[in-house]
Amino acid sequence: MVTAPPPQREHSKPSQPDDVPAAKGSALSPGLYLVATPIGNLEDLSPRAVRVLQGVDRILCEDSRVTGRLLQACGSDRPLWRYHEHNAERARPEVLAALDRGERLALVSDAGTPLISDPGFKLVREARDRGHAIIPIPGPSALLAALVVSGLPTDRFFFQGFLPAKAAARDKVLRELAPLRATLVLFESAKRAEATLLAAAAVLGARPACLARELTKTFEEVRTGELAELARSCAMDPPRGEVVLVIGGATTAATLDDAAIDAALEEALQRLPPSEAAREVAALTGHKRQDLYKRALALQSS
Ligand code: SAM
Repeated sequence: MVTAPPPQREHSKPSQPDDVPAAKGSALSPGLYLVATPIGNLEDLSPRAVRVLQGVDRILCEDSRVTGRLLQACGSDRPLWRYHEHNAERARPEVLAALDRGERLALVSDAGTPLISDPGFKLVREARDRGHAIIPIPGPSALLAALVVSGLPTDRFFFQGFLPAKAAARDKVLRELAPLRATLVLFESAKRAEATLLAAAAVLGARPACLARELTKTFEEVRTGELAELARSCAMDPPRGEVVLVIGGATTAATLDDAAIDAALEEALQRLPPSEAAREVAALTGHKRQDLYKRALALQSS
């Protein structure tokens, strides 16, 4: 659904809190800048990202050592403010108050695009609700880098992020993903890659897949093959570093009594009424919406 953006609030003249010196020569307007940073190769930092990191009043970051090194490399002396998954609830009101005062803030993560399996979504939602400007500074993300090198279809893809660590929860999510006619993209730790590939092979069957690791770094490597082949390759030559798994989507519509369809419907029913759940699963699986609607009603009353 497309909704009209909320009216932008009139910003009062930017003022500086006492403890933050104004950035010299900054021509940035107030608001929250979402700045993508390299996933390994510093040359991927865009000139615009550098200008923003040099010009904002403060930079929200996950780990001040990691971002400190980035700032040193790009000649920014802007103060850091930690915003990570463990302090986000506490820090958010202060960050919103700084935006209310007219500060220019940048949000970065340790690497890649903030908010993509990284903190920031609630901050953006609340800042947007308060009428603040949210400015994307796009750039690297392991998600898109892995997708585009995988050789798998890019026209439709589903980003899963990290699967749950526990096997039962992981397999449940894999069953939900099974009927999707879209390339699947998963973040994974190198040490779990083999187990995840084996589980994916068991649930999804013989699908083409890609393990992309250390993208943009010295030991960049892309392995391709069927899920079980990639699992064997990990057993023989365990991957190290940072890993993304890309898996081919379902190619034929599963039968209606397929447990995977039920799992997808059940997941959608937790968020949506039956008619919308059926519409969503129909779009993803190619099944008829009317059939899925009947099935959704049956699942809901069982
Ligand atoms: N927000 C980040 C982005 O947009 O790329 C992703 C953050 S998530 C916490 C970290 C995961 O991204 C890693 O576990 C790995 O799956 C993936 N990743 C990050 N850098 C990578 C790289 N250079 N090569 C492959 N995967 C990478």
